[in-house]
Amino acid sequence: WWRPDLFDNEVIGFSKKTLAALEKLPRNASLKDITKEEKAKVIGITGSADTRKLCNLNLLRAKIEDKKKGLLDSLYEIFRITGYISQLMAKPSVENEEKLYNIAQLTGLFDRYERRFSRPSAKSLLWLLYKKTMDKGMDQVITTGENAAKCMTVHKAKGLEFPAVVVCSCIEGDFPLRYRARETICGIPIPPDMLKSKEPDMDEHLEEELRLFYVAITRAQDLLVITVPDKINVRKAKRSSFVKMIEEYVTETVDSDITMEKKYKQPKPVTTLSYSAVHAYKDCPFRYKINYVYGFVSPTEPMQRLGIIIHNVLQKVNWALQNDRNVTGEILKKFMEESWLPIAGKKTEENFRKQVFEHIKDYIAFARKEFKRIQCFEKPFTHIDGSLIMRGKVDLVAEDKSGKNVLVDFKAMKKEGIKKTGVEDQLGIYRHCLMDMKIDRMATYTFYDNQFTDFTYDEKATKRLLSDVTSGLLKESFPMKKDKTDCDACPYQFICAELPNG
Ligand code: SF4
Repeated sequence: WWRPDLFDNEVIGFSKKTLAALEKLPRNASLKDITKEEKAKVIGITGSADTRKLCNLNLLRAKIEDKKKGLLDSLYEIFRITGYISQLMAKPSVENEEKLYNIAQLTGLFDRYERRFSRPSAKSLLWLLYKKTMDKGMDQVITTGENAAKCMTVHKAKGLEFPAVVVCSCIEGDFPLRYRARETICGIPIPPDMLKSKEPDMDEHLEEELRLFYVAITRAQDLLVITVPDKINVRKAKRSSFVKMIEEYVTETVDSDITMEKKYKQPKPVTTLSYSAVHAYKDCPFRYKINYVYGFVSPTEPMQRLGIIIHNVLQKVNWALQNDRNVTGEILKKFMEESWLPIAGKKTEENFRKQVFEHIKDYIAFARKEFKRIQCFEKPFTHIDGSLIMRGKVDLVAEDKSGKNVLVDFKAMKKEGIKKTGVEDQLGIYRHCLMDMKIDRMATYTFYDNQFTDFTYDEKATKRLLSDVTSGLLKESFPMKKDKTDCDACPYQFICAELPNG
């Protein structure tokens, strides 16, 4: 499958000269052995950038075959090799923005896939894609800006209203959609056990489409435009029977050029943030944009996985401590088994298991000694502050032996590393959001050295931080950070490196 025509696409972006050289090769020629410049020259590829790309793609291919690279990791590696993401970002346009949103969706999908299926296969990936499209989760592109036009499916528009709504392509076959029992996706048969138990029959399908049409036309507050093309390519199109049903209400039929006189005052936009988003924006607004505006998900590093595992085990341990249950070594092992996530490499995994066991044992001893009572753990909160909504989860609130309530954040690291995580801001924001709770102390518990570190609450600094971030977001200001010292640890460094000012 590693044939010349695979390389003729926008993502790889070979030059015309290289593509012409590839075209001269037999259709079934394999390019997998071209890992050196001399070999590329033999088949007529001489440009240094394209030679490098091809050699690196072949090295990546070998790693994928050896199962040394996961799906999401491989996708990022392709972008690293081809520079495709940077190219899209370097030329801002609606089309490129849309591509970035879609690629970001794909990274999220691959991430979910890898978390759920420890043994990747075409069948399980197909199942996830099928489920995702059925969930109607990938049917919306919202361009930024409060006055931007929003493009979405009718399903996604349920419950929303807009001053003007355009319902496109109201022709037979599109709206109502042509009836067909769904048995394939992109021509690939869906395994029978994955098909819905009952597909709707023709009448049910039409009723459902009519309900959907009703939803579509009732989203408009003032102006509803229904477009009915005469032709689709060369095929003559037939006006939808649904449009005929509402014909008596149509006030005007025009060919084009609809102008709107009325000015609409939009409500003040509301920003919803988590602490991680605030931290990302404060550290580097450009990274925030990649993560939270486009929605890119980066591959999880083994140490991050370890952090997730520790948090998962802690939930169970804190529940046991809160309910005065004994946590023996056997019970702890069971908690770990239930919370474990696959980590690459058997040796690394065994090592991690030992570490987690010891660290949690230390924490249990610490909690029994220092806390009188566990008030709550993994407590979700939503705090509304004018046009800002803060959401998050607090790791733990406990009453210490002197009767003070302490807000605790767990960190899977040593004490010396916590400064960099911006934990002071994090605890300050949590405390600010938990106004209804009496909090006397704020602290972190670092697992790798069993340390409890207190922090003081600076209310002014917390409010200033939230207001700075909110106003930056409202201005849609996403510059790259100037001080590049920590960029080496950023998963998007390969994007910035190719951009001006990067
Ligand atoms: S590499 Fe540096 S500048 Fe680029 S997104 Fe990451 S943190 Fe920001």
